[in-house]
Amino acid sequence: MPSKPGFSKKRPPERGDALLRLSNTDPLTGLENRRAIDQRLRDHWSDWQKHGTSFAAILIDVDFFKKYNDCYGHQEGDRCLILVADALTDSICSYNASIGRYGGEEFIVLARMETKEQVADLAETICRTVQNMALLHEQRRDGISIVTVSVGAAFTRNQAGSKLEKIIHEADRALYAAKASGRNCVKLFDPNDPQSSDESENVAALLKIATTQNLVSLVYQPIRNVSSGRVEAVEALMRLTMQDGTSVPPSLFIPIAERTGAILNLGYWAIRTVCHELLVDNHVRVVSVNVSPIQLKTPGFATSVAAILGETGVAGGRLAFEITEGLEMEMNSDILRCISDLKMLGIRIWLDDFGTGFAGLSWLRLIDFDTVKIDRSFLHDCSTPRGQAMLQDIIGLVRNRGHKILVEGVETDEQLALMREFRIDQVQGFHVGRPAPAESFHSPPPVDTQARLRRPA
Ligand code: C2E
Ligand code: MG
Ligand code: MG
Repeated sequence: MPSKPGFSKKRPPERGDALLRLSNTDPLTGLENRRAIDQRLRDHWSDWQKHGTSFAAILIDVDFFKKYNDCYGHQEGDRCLILVADALTDSICSYNASIGRYGGEEFIVLARMETKEQVADLAETICRTVQNMALLHEQRRDGISIVTVSVGAAFTRNQAGSKLEKIIHEADRALYAAKASGRNCVKLFDPNDPQSSDESENVAALLKIATTQNLVSLVYQPIRNVSSGRVEAVEALMRLTMQDGTSVPPSLFIPIAERTGAILNLGYWAIRTVCHELLVDNHVRVVSVNVSPIQLKTPGFATSVAAILGETGVAGGRLAFEITEGLEMEMNSDILRCISDLKMLGIRIWLDDFGTGFAGLSWLRLIDFDTVKIDRSFLHDCSTPRGQAMLQDIIGLVRNRGHKILVEGVETDEQLALMREFRIDQVQGFHVGRPAPAESFHSPPPVDTQARLRRPA
């Protein structure tokens, strides 16, 4: 049988090489792709295990890239990635390093190095190189208007039972820390940082099994209407306990849940639990649930919430979602669409911890929040005239935009009196009530039932 053109049994070696190169190359940037870099990583790792040749793994993420794409279009987005890739390639050429595209807007550099200082130097060079390109990025809202990168680096270190994935995990932790410190900066993995410790890995593992093993629960804190004095709503706050009963503070486990994506399941669990524990039997009128922006940008979030409402028979108007700007401060079109879908279900959207982050003001412009919760730090600063003036200014700003105002952290009678004087709508804090389990909000049985209960059998 005559062989088909181009399919001779014996492939010419150049063609084989070309195919191999193709399968190892990222088509957009021409850098090595993830497959090739993973192989390189395995080689570096085995050299480190066998000969002690230390190396660094450096992850590089283009800051606010989604926003760049939204603003300038995908073609320009691609062009930006190519320019960054070229600049990064130039920046590492004097080091013993290789570079690859690790995914979307993430790049990776692997470099044989001897000291931590060398790693820091290379990571810093990478960061500054991109900054020096001065590519315009005018839509970011953090006061910078050029393309920058966040850089997380990890260096091989002697550890018992260490695995290959560990160094990437550590670089990822460092990258997260760089983003959390405002982006456009470099972080080296620090084993002593509690967020990157083994403890945080334990918590991450715990979160995966938390709902099925009953390690997670909700407590509720009352929210009082200042003029009527009535408890109008409660806020659901998540609690996590380890298998030995020790509790893990939300300030530790919520960021881990957000980072690992566990927040998605936990979030659905929280909404369902709130419905079952308090709303189905009308124990309270409204429950507010904290929802992280990561949940809002997950495709299908609003539909899943609608399904929970349908399954429990609870009306959307009985729920409020509190949103805090966290690491994810980009308010992109996906999030805005999700918020509008949630509003269609009748769910109210509140802005939590107003005044603490970078983006609060721009969020106020974009979203019609039902209620704005002013962070407790502003109330706690009210002991000085300057602090009091600051709180009044914030109240004026929020009121003029027509939102209801809730002040958090009311701990004393004097603070409550001040809130009355400032005509605040709602208050929350230890003085009004501490977070408590659902049962404390279950109304006592009607009087005649109580009488019957007391009667001897
Ligand atoms: P947050 O939503 O601002 O919740 C209020 C926090 O302030 C709670 O801490 C509450 O116990 C505390 N607090 C209330 N009143 C007072 C007061 O008078 N004085 C002081 N000093 N503190 C007061 P908690 O429960 O530790 O929660 C911390 C944060 O964790 C929450 O802040 C929220 O951002 C996050 N969080 C809690 N539960 C969830 C959840 O189910 N999902 C998500 N995504 N985040 C949650
Ligand atoms: Mg809250
Ligand atoms: Mg709050």
